[in-house]
Amino acid sequence: MALPPHRPTGPDTAALATLPTPLEPMPRLGVALGLGPDDLWVKRDDLIGLGGGGNKVRKLERTMAAALHDGADVVVTSGAPQSNHARLTAAAGARLGVPVVLVLVGDEPATETGNLLLDRLLGARIVWAGDVGAEGLAAAVQDAADHERSAGRRPGVIPFGGSNAVGARAYEDAGRELIDQAPDLRDVVVAVGSGGTMAGLVSALGPERVLGVDTGAVGDAVDRVRSLWGAIAPDDAAAGTLRIRSDLVGAGYEVLTDDTRAAMQLVARTEGIVLDPVYTGRAAAGLVAGVRDGAVTAGSRTVLLHSGGLPGLFGHPHASPWREA
Ligand SMILES: *Cc1c(COP(=O)(O)O)cnc(C)c1O
Repeated sequence: MALPPHRPTGPDTAALATLPTPLEPMPRLGVALGLGPDDLWVKRDDLIGLGGGGNKVRKLERTMAAALHDGADVVVTSGAPQSNHARLTAAAGARLGVPVVLVLVGDEPATETGNLLLDRLLGARIVWAGDVGAEGLAAAVQDAADHERSAGRRPGVIPFGGSNAVGARAYEDAGRELIDQAPDLRDVVVAVGSGGTMAGLVSALGPERVLGVDTGAVGDAVDRVRSLWGAIAPDDAAAGTLRIRSDLVGAGYEVLTDDTRAAMQLVARTEGIVLDPVYTGRAAAGLVAGVRDGAVTAGSRTVLLHSGGLPGLFGHPHASPWREA
């Protein structure tokens, strides 16, 4: 039975998100950090609507539309085993009626938790790439796409993290949405993974208003963000200085650091907002560190981007660290 499309899809955008996402005050966290009660806000892109929510939905509105416009009848993307982007691509495929193949780093685990559980629930097919680096993963994606082609299908490949110029432009729009909600915005604090989210925000808001927090997902976060920014605004990117702090990577992308753990706990216990251990918890730790070292100040409006990621908390190797806390 042919099911109807969920909502109309144009050449540039597939409607997947519920927009605008809320902007909420965090007065208790603000005061706990030594800021004023009106200084700190949170942009709830975790409440964006599709598949458990998160920043990847905005990018997928563009990247999925582009793939479909190019004639794709199956979509292939890649990521870490607990990739939020992979989960949300699976959700976007389900909503748009397109099969999704996820090429994930590593080997099939004995139990599938967190995002991986949701990938299966959403009906994605998973290909395990083994213990590969970025190049090996790209080669595995090509293999998966070739496999689809040899079966007579037309695969569309969506890049790692949904971060290309098309995806980053979605966060340019998000930056404009944010400025409409908070015209007096001084800083927005954002986790940096594949870089498209920060690049788009920087393009819309200017580099001085965006404080990136490197998660260790890519080798050189500054270089990555600059090149994506350059792909959408070459003149600005050539001249501007990016603010990215890299002191919260700790022992690596998937390792829960003490700073992140403390920040997650503080946000949970002052505002009832749950962050994730890889991205938004690190962004909050960067916010706390920024207040400490003067990068974030009282008397001006700071926004933390809640970019989603909650399912990752339930698939994290250092799960249940709060039993004693
Ligand atoms: C992917 C991701 C980010 C980082 O976004 P990029 O555009 O990849 O830099 C931040 N938060 C969450 C929850 C994510 O899944």
